[in-house]
Amino acid sequence: MTVPYKHEPFTDFAIKENQQALQEALAYVNTQLNKEYPLIVGEERITTAEKITSVNPANKTEVVGVVSKATKELAEKAMEKAAVAFEKWKKQKPEARASILIRAAAMLRRRKHEFSAYLIKEAGKPWNEADADTAEAIDFLEYYARQMLKLKDGVPVQSREGEQNAFSYIPLGVGIVISPFNFPLAIMAGTAAAAIVAGNTILLKPANSTPVVAAKFAELLEEAGLPAGVLNYIPGSGAEVGDYLVDHPKTRFISFTGSREVGCRIYERAAKVHSGQIWLKRVIAEMGGKDTVAVDKDADLDLAASAIVASAFGFSGQKCSAGSRAVVHQDVYDEVLEKAVELTRKLTVGNPEEAGTYMGPVIDQNSYSKIMRYIEIGKEEGRLMTGGEGDESKGFFIQPTIFADISEKGRLMQEEIFGPVVAFCKADDFNHILEIANNTDYGLTGALISNNREHIERAKEEFHVGNLYFNRGCTGAIVGYQPFGGFNMSGTDSKAGGPDYLLLHMQAKTTSETF
Ligand code: NAD
Repeated sequence: MTVPYKHEPFTDFAIKENQQALQEALAYVNTQLNKEYPLIVGEERITTAEKITSVNPANKTEVVGVVSKATKELAEKAMEKAAVAFEKWKKQKPEARASILIRAAAMLRRRKHEFSAYLIKEAGKPWNEADADTAEAIDFLEYYARQMLKLKDGVPVQSREGEQNAFSYIPLGVGIVISPFNFPLAIMAGTAAAAIVAGNTILLKPANSTPVVAAKFAELLEEAGLPAGVLNYIPGSGAEVGDYLVDHPKTRFISFTGSREVGCRIYERAAKVHSGQIWLKRVIAEMGGKDTVAVDKDADLDLAASAIVASAFGFSGQKCSAGSRAVVHQDVYDEVLEKAVELTRKLTVGNPEEAGTYMGPVIDQNSYSKIMRYIEIGKEEGRLMTGGEGDESKGFFIQPTIFADISEKGRLMQEEIFGPVVAFCKADDFNHILEIANNTDYGLTGALISNNREHIERAKEEFHVGNLYFNRGCTGAIVGYQPFGGFNMSGTDSKAGGPDYLLLHMQAKTTSETF
C-alpha cells in the first residue's frame, strides 16, 4: 500500500466509450431488477415475510429490488453475532483489516458503472452525480485504509528512566451505522468502512428508499474477504429497529447521518444508560444544513450565478451541502438574480437514465409533497422567478425553483427543504452578508464569491460553517482533500474523509511498564 492516496477521478461522459460503458451497465442492471435481498446476520442470509420495496423514483412502477425487513428479534440476533465477531475482528492486524478495504476499493473500481447504474435507478441520480457518489465510496475505502495504517502504532509519548510508556488506539465494540438516502453508496460505505477498519463490528441500517445499493456493497465486502459477522446488513424501520438498537445496552457507538430531527432523537436516547450497560455510548451524528452561497459587491458575477445554480440544483438540491440560500450584495443583486434565472431555465429535468439529464426526480412521495408545500410558502414569502412546478404522474419531478426577495428570517431562508428550491436574499453590505450567512441554526457549508481579499480573510474567521469555500460552489467536498462536517445543528462535526475521523471509532489506551 505504498501508493499515496489520490482521489478517484470522475468519469468523462463526453468520451464515447465511457458513455457506452454506463449504458451497458444500465442495461445489465435492468436485468437485475425486482430481485430479493435477504438480511445478512453473521453467516446467515435471512429472508423475512415483511419486505421493503425499493422503487425507482423516476418511474414509480419500476421495482429496483425487494429487501427483507429486520424486526427487533432479528436486530437482537444481529447484535449477538456482531458482539461475537468483535472478539476476533479486534485482534486482526490493522494491516489485514486495511487490505480488505483496499481490495474492496479495487473491486468497486472495476464495477464502477454497475454501482453507478444502481444509484441512477434507486436514487434517481443523473449520471455525473451517480459517478461522483461511486468515486467517493472508492475514496473512503482507500483513504480510511491508509489512515488506519497511520494510527496502528499509536502516538509516541515520553518515558522516564526505567519506564516504558505507550499510547495506542483500540476499537470500541459494536456500532450501529445508520445512513441516509442521498449518498446511498458513498456515505453508507464510508461510515461502515471507517468503523470496520478501526476494528469494530457493525449493524448497518441503510435508508429505506435505497437499501439495494447497500446490499450490493455488503456483498462486495464479503467478496473482498470481510469475515461473517463484521458487517451485518439489517434494513428496517427507523422507529422500530433504529430505536431498539440505539437503546441497546450492548451498542457501544452510533454513527448516524441524516436529518436533524432523527439525529437529535438518537443523541438524546443514546445518552440514557440502560440496565446492563457498562459504558457511555459514543454518538457521531451528521445532520442537516441550510447552506449559503454569498456574493460580494466586487465579484465575478457569472461565476456567482453558476455557483448558486450548481449548488442549489445538483442532485435536485438533495445534498446536505446544497446551497439553498443565495445572499447577494444589493449592488449586484438584480444582475446575479437575472443570470441565475437564465442559467436555471436551461437546465433539463427528466429521466436520469438518459445521458445529459441535469436533474432527475426527488426521492419519494413524502419528499415531493414536502418540497411542493415549501414552494407554496415561497409564493407567500417572496417572488417566484422560475420553476415552481411539479409532476408526480410517473416519478417525483420538480422544476428547479428560484424565489427572490425572501427576508432573512423567512422560512425559506431558515428551514432545510432538501429539494430544488433556492431563496435569494438581499444584503446591505458585507457585514450584513456575514450576519445573514450565520443566522440559521445550522453551520454545514458555505461559499463566498468575492474578489476582495480583506473580505475573504474576514469570512475565514467569521463565516461559521464546517466547510467554507471561496469562488466556487458549496457542494462537492472530496475525501482526503476537504474533510466534511458541520457546526451547530449540522451535527458533531466528525469531518468524514479527514485525518481525525477514525479516532472517533476508537479509544486510546496508555500502558506504562516499570523496569
Ligand atoms: P432521515 O433522518 O430521514 O433518515 C436517515 C436514516 O435514519 C435512515 O436510515 C432512517 O431509516 C433512519 N432513522 C429514521 N428514524 C430513526 C430512528 N428513530 N432511529 C434510528 N434511525 C432512524 O434522513 P434522510 O432523509 O435519509 O437524509 C436526508 C437528511 O440527511 C438531510 O437532513 C441531510 O441534510 C442529511 N444529511 C447530512 C449529511 C452530513 O454529512 N451532515 C450528509 C447527508 C445527508
